[in-house]
Formats: sequence, C-alpha cells, structure tokens
Amino acid sequence: MKLPYALAKRFVAGESLDQAVPKVADLNEHGIKVTLDLLGENVKDRKTADDTLQHYIELLEGIHAQNIDSSISIKLTMLGLDIDRDYCRNNLFELLDAAVKFNQFIRIDMEGTDYTQATIDLYKEAFKKYGKHVGIVIQAYLHRTKNDIADLAELGADVRLCKGAYNEPERLALQNMDAIREAYKEYLKVLLDKTVYPRIATHDNKLISWVKEYTQEKGIGKSRFEFQMLYGMRLNTCKALAAEGYNVRVYVPYGTMWFPYFTRRLKERKENIWFVLSTMFQK
Ligand SMILES: Cc1cc2nc3c(=O)[nH]c(=O)nc-3n(C[C@H](O)[C@H](O)[C@H](O)COP(=O)(O)OP(=O)(O)OC[C@H]3O[C@@H](n4cnc5c(N)ncnc54)[C@H](O)[C@@H]3O)c2cc1C
Repeated sequence: MKLPYALAKRFVAGESLDQAVPKVADLNEHGIKVTLDLLGENVKDRKTADDTLQHYIELLEGIHAQNIDSSISIKLTMLGLDIDRDYCRNNLFELLDAAVKFNQFIRIDMEGTDYTQATIDLYKEAFKKYGKHVGIVIQAYLHRTKNDIADLAELGADVRLCKGAYNEPERLALQNMDAIREAYKEYLKVLLDKTVYPRIATHDNKLISWVKEYTQEKGIGKSRFEFQMLYGMRLNTCKALAAEGYNVRVYVPYGTMWFPYFTRRLKERKENIWFVLSTMFQK
C-alpha cells in the first residue's frame, strides 16, 4: 500500500533535498545544527546502492553549495551491506573521500542487531583511515553495549548514544524503560569521561535533566557534548536548550523512502499517532 507523504511530513522534512533545505536553514537560524539523512534502508542490488552513493555525494556537494550547517547520517545497508561487505566498504570509503574533500562528517546510523558487529567493524576500519570525519551510533538497550562502549571510548570514537529503535528480543536487549535509562546513564558517563564530544540522542526529559545535573556537578562544560533530537519532535525543547547555551543538533530525514522510518516513529510513542491523525484534518 502506498501511503501519501502528507501523513509522514511531520517527521520527514521533504521528499527531496530542495524541500528539506528551508527547514534546515530555519533550524540553523535558531542556533541548531543539523544532520541530514537521505531515507532508505536494506538496498538489495548494486545499481541502487551505486545510485545511493551518488546521492550521498551529491548531498555533500549540495550542503557545501547552499552553505547550510549540516553533517550527514547514513545507513550501511543503503551502501550495500546486505550485498557484500567489501563492496559496502568501498562505497563507504568513496563517500568518506568526498567528506574529506568538503571537510564534512559522516555519521553511520546503527540498524538492527543483524548488522551491529559489521557496522562496528566497518566503522573501526573507516576511523583508522578517516579519523574525525566519521562517527558511529551505539544503542543503550543492547546487552553487548557495555563492552562496545568501553572499546569505542578507548579508541576515542565519536559516538551518538541512543536508546535503540528496533524490536529486539530479550536475549539481546533490555526491554524495560527504567533499565534502559540506567544503562544509558552508565554509558554516557564513560563517553563523557573518555571521549572528546559525545552526542546525546534522546527526547527523554528524565535523561535530559540528568545530563544537565550530572555535567554541572562534574564541571563538564556545555561545549563538551551535544543534544540530538529528531525532526518534528520537541522543537521548543531544542530551542530552549540552544538558548541555554547547549549544543543542539536535529536529525533531519528526507526522501521518498520514508515508510520504515515513519512507522518506527509511530511505534515509539502513541502521541506520534495523534500528531499524524491530526495532520489528516488540517487544511
Ligand atoms: C538524533 C537521533 C538519532 C537516532 N539514531 C538512531 C540510530 O541510529 N539507531 C537507532 O536504533 N535509533 C536511533 N534513534 C532512535 C532512538 O534509539 C530512540 O528510539 C528514540 O529516540 C526514542 O527514545 P527517546 O529517548 O528519545 O524517548 P522515548 O523513550 O520515546 O520517550 C521517553 C520519554 O521522553 C519524553 N518524550 C519523548 N518524546 C517526546 C516528545 N516528542 N514530546 C514530549 N516528550 C517526549 C516522554 O516523557 C517519554 O515518556 C535516534 C534518535 C535520535 C534522537
């Protein structure tokens, strides 16, 4: 079934980069940085993966040409991870060559647990070659994260910490929200201690308040980390945090392949369903 984009537009900035750019510029005007994400996942053929690589490179060129303050986030399954790991690595490295050319930063999103190890392995290879131009995402709900965080922090990796958005079984992931929050705090402490600039991706008031208190108590300056939120969520909180002097970045997805991303947002929070239903009745 093909759903109309009108339903998704609360969480998706446009079906093309041109539609997304004014929204990025608006966020930038409020002192909020952006990471642009061309939506899509699980590409199964080389032609589509090659096209995606070209789109990502064009995105870097577009950001440079339009002078907007944005990095980009990508998914390795868009670059062919389901097809062949060497092929995916070549695509990633070609993209990172372009990132170096434009002095840009590529964040590798974390997908479901079928991809966790491969994503970390490819990230480490990329980090060795491209250093500050590449970062990774780690999910606090996974049991394995305790070791991964220690390992990546030791490496000095640039990590975005999130709770985790995929449906994972109990043997692999925590299921209880309070336990996930506690794990999140534990891992963030490690990142704040050992890495230069952790990225704190959450809309959760309890975690945001805890971060503010913890960093103040430990004398960790506001310039040492950034909050990250998703487009369409908690914009007033983003603006308020920026006004308080915190670094804030919004993840801005765009593109025609919005359906899986959109359904993850709906499943995450029942209020998101109401937002979408209400847009159906707006003129
Ligand atoms: C920038 C960014 C990048 C991400 N990248 C990835 C990734 O690469 N891989 C991945 O698996 N996941 C990713 N995620 C998703 C993430 O893993 C979580 O699924 C998602 O952020 C929901 O968890 P939460 O902590 O934001 O809040 P939730 O756990 O959904 O909510 C907790 C509490 O926060 C408050 N809250 C939440 N949303 C709102 C709102 N809109 N308005 C008011 N209060 C609210 C409510 O009190 C709620 O009870 C990313 C998230 C962000 C923000």
